[in-house]
Amino acid sequence: MKFIIATNNAKKLVELERILNPLGIEAVSAKEAGVVLDEVDETGTTFSENAFLKANAAFEKTGMPAVADDSGICVDALGGRPGIFSARYCPELCKTDEDRTQRILDELQGVPEGQRGAHYTCAICCILPDGNKLEIEEICEGTIGYEFIGDGGFGYDPIFMQGDKTFAQLTAEEKDKVSHRGKALRKLKVALEEYFKNNPKG
Ligand code: IMP
Repeated sequence: MKFIIATNNAKKLVELERILNPLGIEAVSAKEAGVVLDEVDETGTTFSENAFLKANAAFEKTGMPAVADDSGICVDALGGRPGIFSARYCPELCKTDEDRTQRILDELQGVPEGQRGAHYTCAICCILPDGNKLEIEEICEGTIGYEFIGDGGFGYDPIFMQGDKTFAQLTAEEKDKVSHRGKALRKLKVALEEYFKNNPKG
């Protein structure tokens, strides 16, 4: 059964497809499904509300079961900012992922080693063939470095560290093993297996 991936973020789409397809979930992009998904107003106040808004919009438009992710980075020393606003942080000054990432480094100037904790959060919402939803949320803890390092990943990965490496220095497989998105999607697989066991015809 095909699941539409409700995102227009090309880099996120690559990660979602890369993790879901080997799990046996046939993930297709809007383009592959032959539809255009309108940008959804992320009016929710939590990651999971926004994930639902995106998945539900795709389900209503296509009638296909849909998977959406809402994610972001929460920096301890910034009181959890940018959080749900990670993709649109400080829009008056920042136009690109690089600007937003630099902004965090600037805001953390002078913050010492032990106070640079942060985590990524990933909320997944899956609208099932019967219209019911599965919701999952996972986090991935790390610290914020002092400069951009590495050219893999996307978004804030060049400054998000576990141990002495940023996520932008990890291979795709290494990132998927520990990332918020990897963990959440593996849980989704288990939940979907349970669903199909109880609903063999979808
Ligand atoms: P969304 O598309 O509204 O869910 O925005 C997610 C934003 O959070 C992205 O544009 C990135 O800025 C950030 N983000 C989420 N997951 C990751 C990740 O795995 N690496 C780096 N940045 C991420």
